Amino acid sequence: MSALRAHRVLQHIARQGWRAQSTAPRAAASAPASAAQGFSFEFTEQQKEFQATARKFAREEIIPEAPRYDRTGEYPVPLIKRAWELGLMNGHIPEHCGGLNLGIFDTCLITEEIAYGCTGIQTAIEANSLGQMPVILAGNEAQQKKYLGRLTEEPLMCAYCVTEPGAGSDVAGLKTRAEKKGNEYIVNGQKMWITNGGKANWYFLLARTNPDPKAPTGKAFTGFIVEADSPGVQIGRKELNMGQRCSDTRGIVFEDVRIPAENVLLGEGVGFKIAMGAFDKTRPPVAAGAVGLAQRALDEATKYSLERKTFGKVLAEHQAVSFLLAEMAMKVELARMAYQRAAWEVDSGRRNTYYASIAKAFAGDIANQVASDAVQVFGGNGFNSEYPVEKLMRDAKIYQIYEGTAQIQRLIIAREHIGKYKV
Ligand SMILES: Cc1cc2nc3c(=O)[nH]c(=O)nc-3n(C[C@H](O)[C@H](O)[C@H](O)COP(=O)(O)OP(=O)(O)OC[C@H]3O[C@@H](n4cnc5c(N)ncnc54)[C@H](O)[C@@H]3O)c2cc1C
Repeated sequence: MSALRAHRVLQHIARQGWRAQSTAPRAAASAPASAAQGFSFEFTEQQKEFQATARKFAREEIIPEAPRYDRTGEYPVPLIKRAWELGLMNGHIPEHCGGLNLGIFDTCLITEEIAYGCTGIQTAIEANSLGQMPVILAGNEAQQKKYLGRLTEEPLMCAYCVTEPGAGSDVAGLKTRAEKKGNEYIVNGQKMWITNGGKANWYFLLARTNPDPKAPTGKAFTGFIVEADSPGVQIGRKELNMGQRCSDTRGIVFEDVRIPAENVLLGEGVGFKIAMGAFDKTRPPVAAGAVGLAQRALDEATKYSLERKTFGKVLAEHQAVSFLLAEMAMKVELARMAYQRAAWEVDSGRRNTYYASIAKAFAGDIANQVASDAVQVFGGNGFNSEYPVEKLMRDAKIYQIYEGTAQIQRLIIAREHIGKYKV
């Protein structure tokens, strides 16, 4: 991120009277000189500021509104606008498009805090990063300026259109076709489960361009940028999901949609690699979201366990409950370290597929375990929507499904792990 742009965002935060909630800055004299270069859990001042801003936003503005958005399923437009104003979304967009060019580690810190407030809102915001990532990775300068630049000028959404009714885990099975005619492509097909599907200004779309069913995956598909208001784009109804209900999930039909050839990303045939490559940078934030939810569940359960009395003492004084809290805390801490490692690896320019899948799988699993344990600590109240933890349990499930299921992450981890022994 350019120092100037970061400075401007932080100045804006300061003008709003928002102070960092982080601990006092490390005293320069007491810190070893090597700490910044070697192994360190210390955040930079800028990271602390972003984390503090996101934390304040989540706790003061998201948490009070989250139950209503969960009940109504309404898309949280005012909160998304506010996140945009505060510089808490679209963080990866490069400077030459007006963005902050934040690292994955930095945006993960923000994502965890927003998820603590409501993961429905976090998913809506995170889906923007997912939609943008192929353009950040593979877009040319003109494409980036036009489509990423737009998102920095006003609070617009985008979406990642890959999954189809017949192809989710098995992405190579997708059927949407794009046929080249002159200087444009004609797209026909159907996408499913698209987050921000009905709210996006543009889509990243993956379609088959090679009609030969035997064509290798690495050559058969092409990535496109599609204007959402293109004639022939038919947006389906908002899906009624188990959790994260204010997030907008839809099917989209593409019927004779014309896409100019200039909207092809990188070139014909390389779309699969672009679409899958995005996950190395987007899975750590998904894991961070799961950690935010798990931390919230742990906090709620702990607070409740210090108030509710049974058999003459508070729940936390029953060893079975305190050990349950200890198990929950262990899981949250380890999942946080997993996403931070995955983010740090990719920010350091290293291939992080292995770490990204470990973080995503582990955090997704523990979010479900910790949310369920929090419901247990609340007893009957945990099962009731007047208390916060039943929403957390419903919201958690999707972390084991989207951006590659828990099983698909294990396939990747096993492939990466065993591969190391073969070379
Ligand atoms: C709320 C929501 C939001 C989403 N947002 C987006 C989005 O923005 N963009 C987008 O493109 N997609 C999105 N998705 C789609 C999501 O990524 C897919 O649902 C997911 O990848 C799983 O695909 P599927 O639903 O087709 O399940 P399937 O692939 O049919 O899998 C069903 C089950 O079988 C298991 N399975 C499948 N193959 C194997 C295997 N080889 N080995 C072991 N187990 C296997 C899976 O793990 C799963 O448990 C979203 C989905 C949901 C529900």
